[in-house]
Amino acid sequence: MSDESSVIEAVEKRLFIDGKWVEATRGATFDVVDPSTGEVLCAVADASPADGRAALEAAVAAQADFARTSPRDRADMLMAAYELLMERADDLALLMTLEMGKPLPEARGEIAYAAEFFRHFAGEAVRIDGGYQTAPAGNARFLIAKQPVGPCLLITPWNFPMAMGTRKLGPAIAAGCTSVIKPAHQTPLSMLALMGILAEAGVPAGAVNCVTAMDAGGVMEPLIRSGLARKLSFTGSTRVGRVLLEQSAEKVLRTSLELGGNAPFIVFEDADLDEAVDGAIAAKMRNMGEACTAANRLFVHNSIIDEFGRRLADRMGALTVGRGTEPDVKVGPLIDAAGLEKVRSLVADAVGRGATVLTGGEVAAGNGYFYPPTVLTGVPRDAAMADQEIFGPVAPLTPFSTEEEVVEAANDTEYGLVAYVFTNDLRRALRVAESIETGMVGLNQGVVSNPAAPFGGMKQSGLGREGGAVGIDEFLETKYIGIAVS
Ligand code: NAP
Repeated sequence: MSDESSVIEAVEKRLFIDGKWVEATRGATFDVVDPSTGEVLCAVADASPADGRAALEAAVAAQADFARTSPRDRADMLMAAYELLMERADDLALLMTLEMGKPLPEARGEIAYAAEFFRHFAGEAVRIDGGYQTAPAGNARFLIAKQPVGPCLLITPWNFPMAMGTRKLGPAIAAGCTSVIKPAHQTPLSMLALMGILAEAGVPAGAVNCVTAMDAGGVMEPLIRSGLARKLSFTGSTRVGRVLLEQSAEKVLRTSLELGGNAPFIVFEDADLDEAVDGAIAAKMRNMGEACTAANRLFVHNSIIDEFGRRLADRMGALTVGRGTEPDVKVGPLIDAAGLEKVRSLVADAVGRGATVLTGGEVAAGNGYFYPPTVLTGVPRDAAMADQEIFGPVAPLTPFSTEEEVVEAANDTEYGLVAYVFTNDLRRALRVAESIETGMVGLNQGVVSNPAAPFGGMKQSGLGREGGAVGIDEFLETKYIGIAVS
């Protein structure tokens, strides 16, 4: 594996437009910061609205030719990119840890997860299906075909800097759609590295373009309203998702939105407690709790909450916090000062309303945006963290006594991304899984993300699904051709 300065040195820091690396207008740049030290790692190009327009025009110009490439060629591009990601996983993981903070083993895990979207969609590219049907009156035939939607705008968040990109680019390339992708300003480096890999893998000039920018709205809004793009796929907060949905309405863009979550994690009295604690660690501590799928409200049956709380606090309190590049570190820094302040104020609010701290809760002095793994018990349902994403390593426990009560509490949120349910009673498991208003349910497991499964939410957690057999449909139009036969 290369050292820190050489991975930063090696990555391109310019915009990727029409197969070429180009400076932003007037050479503008912005800084990328290491959240474990607060120090600047490097500067990258800061796109202007004109740069954004140039990127979208390149995508539009490339669309017709790209749509004509054969499914096998597009599958080969994706498989080549998969191989390159896996070959360079160590360096890419280090780059991600430096810009985002997650521990190196988690960053390596994300590179493998990200690459898997390319392998999955390489398979889907060659299985885009259609249909042939006889009209009910018998006098015509229906030929049903799938075509690429057209040029796409893709916007991704900082918490999974590589995987949120491949989860959109994989199906876009498989379907034959060109795109402009804009990563979050905190984590542009992973996406820039991915652009180089896609070019090496044979993706033609203009088929994939990348703009990095500080003024996300200033660059993207004119593109969304331009009428040149046919689709917007966004992963990020519900607040921004609502704004983008409104902007997309003007030119009626196809939209896919993967938004925020407020996952309930429910432990019934008949659950295997070891399994439930393992599940809680996975669902809470992946990515330092900075995940849309993070367990945000842990409802534990009142007969076992004390024991569960003790075991979870012991496990969480023992996790090593530090810079993600250090050996044995399990919990890196939060993304920035605002993220740290949000977690700190949510914990203060819960404690002010009567919650008890079982472990953590105190920020240590020093550089970087570190927050300790924290378990709170007796968190009332009116605490601010009960309806906001914590986005940090804080597990709030709330007791419940009946199945009916906990299902009502779990559904008492505008979000509906994922729920976790721990029980050994199959009938109860199915009853609860079917009553919970979320797009995904983890039954006796704390992780649901899998490129081969349809990922997405109900309610204000989003529109559409990414991954699975349906992920490619978000990038395809259905066309029906009526053929007269009599
Ligand atoms: P965010 O503030 O909504 O930002 C997401 C992306 O949108 C970033 O690239 C951001 O650019 C861009 N953006 C912000 N304002 C914009 C605007 N007016 N027009 C166009 N683009 C704009 O969210 P975040 O804090 O980065 O990410 C965390 C959120 O993402 C959480 O709510 C989390 O639950 C959600 N998330 C959801 C999923 C899922 O699959 N459901 C997966 C991961 C994360 P800048 O970087 O310049 O602000």
